[in-house]
Amino acid sequence: MRATRALIHLNNLKSNIRGIRGFLQPGTKLCVAMKADAYGHGAARCAQAALEAGADFLSVATVEEGIELRNAGIHSPILLLSLCSPDETDSAVRYGISPFVFDSEYIGRFAESCRKIGTADFCVHLAVDTGMGRIGCRPEEAGKIARLIAGTGVLSLGGTATHFALSDSISQEAESYTRMQFERFQTAIAAIRAEGLSPGICHCSNSAAVLNNPEYQLDMVRPGIIAYGYYADEVSREYLEAKGCQIELKPVMTLESTVCSIRKCLKGQSISYGCTWTAGQDTYIGVIPAGYADGVFRRFASSGLSVAVNGKSCPVRGKICMDQMMIDLGPDCTAKRWDTAVIFGDSRSGALQTADDIARMTGTIPYEITCGISKRVPRVFITG
Ligand SMILES: *Cc1c(COP(=O)(O)O)cnc(C)c1O
Repeated sequence: MRATRALIHLNNLKSNIRGIRGFLQPGTKLCVAMKADAYGHGAARCAQAALEAGADFLSVATVEEGIELRNAGIHSPILLLSLCSPDETDSAVRYGISPFVFDSEYIGRFAESCRKIGTADFCVHLAVDTGMGRIGCRPEEAGKIARLIAGTGVLSLGGTATHFALSDSISQEAESYTRMQFERFQTAIAAIRAEGLSPGICHCSNSAAVLNNPEYQLDMVRPGIIAYGYYADEVSREYLEAKGCQIELKPVMTLESTVCSIRKCLKGQSISYGCTWTAGQDTYIGVIPAGYADGVFRRFASSGLSVAVNGKSCPVRGKICMDQMMIDLGPDCTAKRWDTAVIFGDSRSGALQTADDIARMTGTIPYEITCGISKRVPRVFITG
């Protein structure tokens, strides 16, 4: 196995999901996001673990992601959160992957696939745009679109959904924007009922809303990032503690590598492309075979990334290369060749920082850090 690997602590995933369950009213269903290969963690194994921990639904962003889960033996309902192309609708129907729909053209294409394949009751969810500005019909059109779905004779309205744009922000303005979105969503649901139709399972809450807005749970919630062990931006651990609702989230991914070489570096020698770092004293430099092609981006070094070797903080020196980076083991180096270097993870894994810490350091969100860990980094699933 490669020296650089992502350990995926499935027990942490399960513990996070059980913790989320504790925030839900009895009877509220739980749909866990598996899109983007489970936020970079490996979809098939995470999906299995999520279902074992009590998830009812899973969600994906592409038809291929849904097919991967079906081929891994997953039988739970799967929602397709993003749009697919016309040549993918047959597969979505065949594999029972329920799309978000909201206009007549797209609905017509799914109905056509159902007729071709001979499916008489394909479940779709109606997406309503209440303020995200991404996908969905206008709230006042929801009744008409629901009628259109029912009118196909082959599609059934399994659910109605909207998505919050600002729920991870705790300012007054943000909270009233989210409330406005929720009220528009209620208007849409009422419009569907006014047509004499059932809206099916109604759902709108992402991670931030699950933790911060229990009043928006409805029939189902759709968290993602909190299942993988990170708080949703301003809905932070501290904020929740102050509100009196605690949840202990455990980062699921640990990115680690190996010190593959240790060489003495003399005062005045420089390290890596551009010779941007020069030793001010004699020291020992370790080489870690991980670089930006693995998702350890160049900006991590310019933000001051250090990695942990036997609990010691070792700063990255010079620029991060495509496949390698150099760390400073110090003048009194005690590290040995082939020792483990932990880049990020749960503090219990010996890491100095989590993916969320790196995100804050580099001006992004933890989603981008874990999704960025590329395919060539093997995922090692830890169940113990
Ligand atoms: C990704 C996604 C979610 C989950 O978002 P988190 O912020 O990770 O909780 C929920 N709903 C939709 C429509 C999404 O695209």
